[in-house]
Amino acid sequence: MTLDPADWSAFRQQAHRMLDDMLDYLEHLRQRPTWQPLPVTKGSFFRQASPQEPQELSQVHQEFMDYILPYTIGNPHPGFMGWVHGGGTPVGMLAEMLAGGLNVNAGGRHQAPIQLERQLLSWIRHWFEFPPQASGLFVTGTSMANLIGVWIAQRARLGPTLRQQGLAAQAQRPLIAYASAGAHGCIAQALDLSGLGTQALHLIPMNDQYQMDTDALRARVQADRAAGLEPFLVVGTAGSVDVGAVDDLADLASFCRAQELWFHVDGAYGALGCLSPQLAPYLAGIQQADSIAFDFHKWGQVPYDAGFILVREDTLQRQTFATPAAYLRRDTRGAAAGSPWPCDYGPDLSRGFRALKTWFTLKVYGTRALGEMMANTCTLAQQLGALISAHPRLELLAPITLNIVCFRFRCPDPNTVNAQLLMELHESGLALPSSTTLQGQFALRAAIVNHRTTLQDLETLVAAVLHFGMLLAPEPN
Ligand SMILES: *Cc1c(COP(=O)(O)O)cnc(C)c1O
Repeated sequence: MTLDPADWSAFRQQAHRMLDDMLDYLEHLRQRPTWQPLPVTKGSFFRQASPQEPQELSQVHQEFMDYILPYTIGNPHPGFMGWVHGGGTPVGMLAEMLAGGLNVNAGGRHQAPIQLERQLLSWIRHWFEFPPQASGLFVTGTSMANLIGVWIAQRARLGPTLRQQGLAAQAQRPLIAYASAGAHGCIAQALDLSGLGTQALHLIPMNDQYQMDTDALRARVQADRAAGLEPFLVVGTAGSVDVGAVDDLADLASFCRAQELWFHVDGAYGALGCLSPQLAPYLAGIQQADSIAFDFHKWGQVPYDAGFILVREDTLQRQTFATPAAYLRRDTRGAAAGSPWPCDYGPDLSRGFRALKTWFTLKVYGTRALGEMMANTCTLAQQLGALISAHPRLELLAPITLNIVCFRFRCPDPNTVNAQLLMELHESGLALPSSTTLQGQFALRAAIVNHRTTLQDLETLVAAVLHFGMLLAPEPN
């Protein structure tokens, strides 16, 4: 039997309805709450037996409309400022549909999708001023890209025997990595998964701008060497998850070069700032990294998921991952030509066509407009900062470097009240910031990543914070 429609023309009509519903959703996002909880009465929908008998597509789509579409976390919505999530675009959505239709397995072989991914690699190389022999790979996200960076750095340090003998053969040389205390948690996780363990990550304190204190890094590396440890990797952060700080990448790069350490940059959302002449200066030094991890699905607004790892030296990336297998034989002609393949550059064999939605996004909007959009989110962050500073019941809790604003409502017992306030705010559907803890203080955190967010949305956020704050704690200190 085939799974294709028996009646293509009826299927087409249903397909148009589904597309229309999705375009309606995107066109009228503002009329919806930013977020709403799944009603308790709808919960049982997600606890059904597996479907043995077929159901009409139109009926399944209706279930999607009723039970799924209204209850996502809401990152396409202009009021969404929680965490660092991209908003997506209608163009990206269509590209995802095309990629689904082609059903490309982009693990390798002789096909245009692999050429397209190489085309994107060459653009990305150009943005970061990387040499022609630099390699790269689309991956799920920056968590995976950082892990790949750690694996390559480890393989580069320990040599080819690592792949047969594992870390056991290196027990005499405890490798040590360094990152800012403000680094994302996936860096420690990458050290864990690479077999070195989280204790092999030495966290370096931050200065008052939330950047890695590079003097402290120098002292720590020197002390570790004196203690018989083997420093091998420094991870710089470009756009920290808490406050959006950018480490002094130029200083880190020159230190790493002098000390022969691998320099990896976690630029999850910040690295794409290189597309904006206004933001690029913050990233000075990123061009000298050995590897850069970043996401197209955050500031780049490409639909989830689309992470990328860029590596200065193709050979090193291939030596870390390429695995010979008879069924992956390469030919010089025919469908199995075109070696090396993407599967030689990372742990995945089968992989989707993430390059397509990224290519559509870059082509249709152009890198200039994308850079301007990112710079605009930073301008909005400064405007939000000004609204907060101007109000006696609000205070900023960290300097605003890029597009993240940490603040709170002023009151007695601010940690408890602001945590409560945040939940009220979420459930109101008016705006959706998230939270973090800065120097022991609970902070409301607005990450303005979405291209749809405007000053009006920030005014709504401020008004809602004041409204719920005044209800919870009418009197100031
Ligand atoms: C989001 C983020 C990550 C993780 O990236 P994913 O794409 O979610 O895996 C890592 N580091 C920083 C600084 C981030 O903002």
